[in-house]
Formats: sequence, structure tokens, C-alpha cells
Amino acid sequence: MPRRARASGPDETDVIVIGGGPGGSTVGASLARSGLRVLLLERERFPRDHIGESLLPASMPLLDEIGALPAIERAGFLKKWGATMVWGSDSEPWAWFFRETNRRWPHSYQVSRPEFDQLLLENARDQGADVREGHQVVEVLFEGDRARGVRYRSDQGPEGIVHADFVVDASGQNAMLGRARGLRSWDPFFRNLAVYGYFAGARRLHGEQERNNILVESFPRGWSWAIPLHTGVASVGVVLDSEHAQRDMHGRDLREFFVERLQESPHTWDLVRDAELQPGISVIKDWSYSSEEVVGDGWILVGDAACFVDPLFSSGVHLAMSSAMLAAAYIRAMRHDPALGKAAAPVYKELYYTQYSHFHQMAKLFYASNRTPDSYFWEARRVLGSQEGYSPRHAFINAVAGQPPQGYERVVIEHGEAPEEFASSVQTLEGERAERKACAAGMGAAIADTVPVLAPGVQVSVKPVLEGSDFVWGYVIESEPRPGGIPCSPLVAELVKRFDGRRSHREAVADLRSTFGPDIDDRVDELATEALRLLYVDGTVESLALDGGALPA
Ligand SMILES: Cc1cc2nc3c(=O)[nH]c(=O)nc-3n(C[C@H](O)[C@H](O)[C@H](O)COP(=O)(O)OP(=O)(O)OC[C@H]3O[C@@H](n4cnc5c(N)ncnc54)[C@H](O)[C@@H]3O)c2cc1C
Repeated sequence: MPRRARASGPDETDVIVIGGGPGGSTVGASLARSGLRVLLLERERFPRDHIGESLLPASMPLLDEIGALPAIERAGFLKKWGATMVWGSDSEPWAWFFRETNRRWPHSYQVSRPEFDQLLLENARDQGADVREGHQVVEVLFEGDRARGVRYRSDQGPEGIVHADFVVDASGQNAMLGRARGLRSWDPFFRNLAVYGYFAGARRLHGEQERNNILVESFPRGWSWAIPLHTGVASVGVVLDSEHAQRDMHGRDLREFFVERLQESPHTWDLVRDAELQPGISVIKDWSYSSEEVVGDGWILVGDAACFVDPLFSSGVHLAMSSAMLAAAYIRAMRHDPALGKAAAPVYKELYYTQYSHFHQMAKLFYASNRTPDSYFWEARRVLGSQEGYSPRHAFINAVAGQPPQGYERVVIEHGEAPEEFASSVQTLEGERAERKACAAGMGAAIADTVPVLAPGVQVSVKPVLEGSDFVWGYVIESEPRPGGIPCSPLVAELVKRFDGRRSHREAVADLRSTFGPDIDDRVDELATEALRLLYVDGTVESLALDGGALPA
């Protein structure tokens, strides 16, 4: 075999990023902005095609933080204000809007991915990353268990080896490291497949606010999406049961099969019936998986390289970008304070999986909440949490971490036929919160004389927490529904540590004063009492006993 020529380029750098999708470009831009030497290797030359056009407003502050927002705002992408759905008990479309839950960012964008991904890649370059397109990573190199670099091949021929302190795998569904190290496990629930294409001249939804919405419509064999794009085409697809669809497609003309499925989805069909289906229909499957580990010695996974749930909530780009920001924070921590960095590794996994689990459980709830036409697709997905060993209440608490439901989950509850146990869990939780709020308010100043009793499993610990876009040491309150903990101020942490179920709140505050003396905030009484109210309302303080042991009315 002739030896390939070596490519010119650095042999040694700080961080290598594999892949220049939203995950790779975000981590690359963030680290380059902090002054690290970043080499980003992308297999394709951009613009390249990619599915996944509908964004969430939660990504907007991230775009801002990596300096990409002005270019995205200038690109002319359609503003997406919400979603229109045919799902649940209503057979007519119903819409909901981001402004109902997100005042700061009431819109996101419907983006043409080739253009969006290119803007993000250019941004990474502008921020100082060494971005090389047409460079495929063929192997991640390890020294023992430690990732030390990569071997790559350029589309111009030469091969090269680069060493680095960190390798970030942002290779999307290709999941280079996940596959090489056997980290991936497939999700048995979302065994779906998508067939999609692009229509020129598709109709738009009615109404000024709804014109740019994504339309998501369930039909007996699955569900469909239609996303209008500023380029004049609409991204349209159907999600079907993988096994059944593969059998049904066998030997069929794909275009014909796709159109037949769209005709079963009447509102979506209405948008595209007179439009022109462009050549090039694609099929994608096997996208639902997670990874046993997402961070190791010298390596970290971001975005689809780590896990992906389902396209239902348009959450993929957001998860890719937010995990990328966390990965950048982790790498900075490792470089500046290895002890902090080491402790941040499990926090990275916790934070990533909290977000992943949120979308995962909500997607399951959403699938289960659809009116169940007599069809294989919906019957197989009419899963209740209890079959998996956790109660619906527990699943719900995990999903919304004890917060009142909002956004998609609120929509499920209002419009879907959420499994009864879920709906009643939500009502019970909301009722409990309202009662506790009224009770705490009703006690007035007398709350200071109660004896706070912590919920089982509540404890204060010190671990890496995010401050802006960096990890710092901080306090968190851990509890059963939030094993990863909620960051809190030192004052609240010291207060909770003193809630031993015997002393009153007033005594706990007096103890704080004597421990910290003049260093303590002048308003400690006021702040501590307010904290107690909040801790009681959110259930961290399970009960407030009066001195004689009786509970307040
Ligand atoms: C049917 C469907 C519909 C979807 N719809 C939406 C949606 O509406 N909204 C949404 O937010 N998400 C959606 N998604 C998900 C979304 O597409 C992904 O979650 C998102 O693109 C993940 O970004 P990433 O950067 O992790 O990976 P990618 O965007 O896939 O980027 C990975 C990059 O790595 C490169 N690469 C791969 N291997 C190598 C290698 N060996 N060397 C160098 N480079 C390599 C690839 O060329 C690619 O550019 C959808 C997904 C599916 C399956």
C-alpha cells in the first residue's frame, strides 16, 4: 500500500473537535473565545444538507453567547412563534406560542440547516478556531484510557495525526467515540423512522402569528411535520414505526410511498397538495439512543454524538448547543483547576441527562397522550410509566423537577388525553403547591417560630455549579426528585444545614448569627424567612411544626 502524504497543519493543539454541526461549532467557538487553540475537523464541505430545521427559543441566548446571533438575525430566517398541532383529543389544529412561557425570547427561527450550520461554522472560525472542512476523523487515538488525539484524512488526499489535551466528539449520529467504545444503547421505545423531502410553493398556515409555525399532525400510522423555510420551500416529513415502515416500503417507489402517507395526514396534505415535491426523498432511522458515559479521560461527547430522543419537540439542535456550552465549561475547568474539572465531569453528565430526560419523558407522555386511533403505531406507544417500574407521579416530578408544568408539558395536559394518572399527578402537585403557598403566606411572621422538617433525602453539598458559562465551586441542595441538586446561595445552604427537625427557624438563624458574627448580611432575618417560605412551597422543607409539635392549619 502506498503511504499517503502527510497534511500540513499543527501536530499539537489544546482541543480537537470532531464535527462542525451546531454542537461542534458551538463548543469550538466558545473555547476559541476563551483563548484556547481549537482544531475543528469537519468531514463535509459546507453548505451541506441536514435535517432538523425548527429551533427552540432556549437556543437564542446560546447563539448570543457565542457571538453568532447577529449573523443569524441578519440571515432572513423565518421567525417561529410557536407550534400548531393536531394531536390529543382535538381533531382540529390548535396553536400555542412561546410567549406563553418565555417572555425574554418569544420566538426562535425556522432555519435552512445548510445555511444555519454554515453560519455557525463561520462563527467558530471568526472566533479563532482552526476550522478544516473536508477533513474526516478516522480514529481517536488513546494512550491507555486517555484520549490523546485523532487521525484524520483530508478529501485532498493527505492523512494526518494531531495530538491534543481534549477530544470533543461532536460527530452527530455518526457517534465516533460512542461506537468505538461501545457506549451507545438504543431506546426500545422510540423505534421510529422518518421519510422526508422538500416542497416548493407549499401553502402556509392561516393567521399572522401562525404562518411560520411548525405543523405537527398525528395520523393513524404516525405523525407528520411541515416547516416553512425562508428559501420558499417547506421541510415536510412523516414519522412511522420503523419495522412496519421498512416492510411497507420494500420494493416500493419511495416518492409514491411518501405522498401516500402524507395523504393520510389531512392538514399537512392540505398545505402541500398543490406544491411541487423536489427530487431527493430521504429516509432516516435508528436515531433514539443514549450513551452510558458522556465524558472520560481526555474526551467528551456533545449533541447527537451522545444521545438523541426524537424529533417531536424540535429539541435536537438545542440539546447539541447546550451540551456544547457545558462541555466548553468543563474543559475550561479542567485546564484552570483540575480538581474543579474532575468534580465537574459527573456534573456535566447530570446536567446533560436532566435535559435529555426532560425531553425523553415529555416525548413519551406526548406519544401516550394522543387520541389512540386503532393503529399499531399508537397502541405500541401507549406506554404508561408504571410499566417501567416508576409511578406516573414520580415520572412527572422527574420530568418537570417539581416545577409547575409549562410549555409543551402544559400543552399536553390541556389538549391531550394525558394518561389519567399523569393528569391527576399534575393536579395533585399543583394543588399541593398552592396549598403550601397559602399556608406559608397565612402564617405571616409566625413562620419564624416553626420547626422546619426537611423532606427525606435532602442534603446540602458543595460541587461545581455553573456561574455564567463557567463552573465554579458552589452549594447545591440535593433531594430525591432532584438528585443533581439545585444551586443555592451560601446563606440558604447554611440555613438548610441547621434545619435538624428539632430547632426552630428562629434558633437556626440565631445560630447563623453567632457562627458568622459581623460578616453576616444585615438583612439575614428577612432573607432567611423568605428562603424558608420558598423551601416550604417547593417541598424541600416537608413540614413546619409548631414548637409543641402541632402542624399549622
Ligand atoms: C427526522 C428528524 C427531524 C429532526 N428535526 C429537528 C428539528 O426540527 N429541530 C431540531 O432542533 N432538531 C431536529 N432534529 C435533530 C437534529 O438534526 C440534531 O439533533 C442536530 O443536528 C444535532 O447536532 P450535532 O451538532 O450534534 O450533530 P450534526 O448536526 O449531525 O453534526 C455532526 C457533524 O459531524 C460531521 N462528522 C461526522 N462524522 C465525522 C468524522 N468522522 N469526522 C469529521 N466530521 C464528522 C458531520 O458531517 C456533521 O456535519 C431532527 C432529527 C431527525 C432524525
